[in-house]
Amino acid sequence: MLIDVHCHIDDQVFDNDRDQVVGRAKQVLILNAGVDPASNRKTMELADKYRNVKACLGLHPEFIAKFTDDLIDNEINWIRNREKRIVAISEIGLDYYWVKDENQRERQKKLFMKMLKLADELNLPVITHSRDATDDTLTILREFPQLKVVLHGFSEPDNKGYLVSVAPNIYRNKAKQRQVKELAMESLLTETDSPLLGVDPKERNEPINILRVIEKIAQLKNMNKEEAEKTISMNAVRFFGDTIFSSVH
Ligand SMILES: [Zn+2]
Repeated sequence: MLIDVHCHIDDQVFDNDRDQVVGRAKQVLILNAGVDPASNRKTMELADKYRNVKACLGLHPEFIAKFTDDLIDNEINWIRNREKRIVAISEIGLDYYWVKDENQRERQKKLFMKMLKLADELNLPVITHSRDATDDTLTILREFPQLKVVLHGFSEPDNKGYLVSVAPNIYRNKAKQRQVKELAMESLLTETDSPLLGVDPKERNEPINILRVIEKIAQLKNMNKEEAEKTISMNAVRFFGDTIFSSVH
């Protein structure tokens, strides 16, 4: 079983051929992450439309300046009302690469904590974004030891016991290659972050490229692809629950 735990196929770059993109990845369970209110709604539509697409809902820290406090509270309520139809809270986290303003960084932290509280309340896992914000991300996550966490886009050598997802950019990211070599197979999941983080940064990335990720992990870990795929799908079952692959065949 193949899983893409983090992507954005609601993005408008897929508007002309989304059916084909999802069709090409029939054997992949695709978890789409909403990044703002419009993207969350689109994510729910896609999860209703395609049997191999599941919804993750969140508010992306990069867009914090666009999120008023009222919008944040309304969106949290909207997500809460869809509790039974989502598999994780995402995309959430901290982004200090795009957001330099101290006041907005403080607002990101508050938003992140609200989302982690929501995940705790709904008993859902989280898939986090952290860019140039490793220390603050890990400090905040430590306040929620009961949560199940996947670190998306995380290349540090120490995963602090959380699962780490691996994207096609592993072909060109040396830190990520080192991390995958160091970590136990049991710590790894696969993602594409489509349309970003492709093997070639100039190309539009898509969920079928999970196959390329499995290939690279197998090569780095000196195992065959079948073995790598099996271990990662078992990690997904352990993390998301027994029924996570029930819609893929
Ligand atoms: Zn993302």
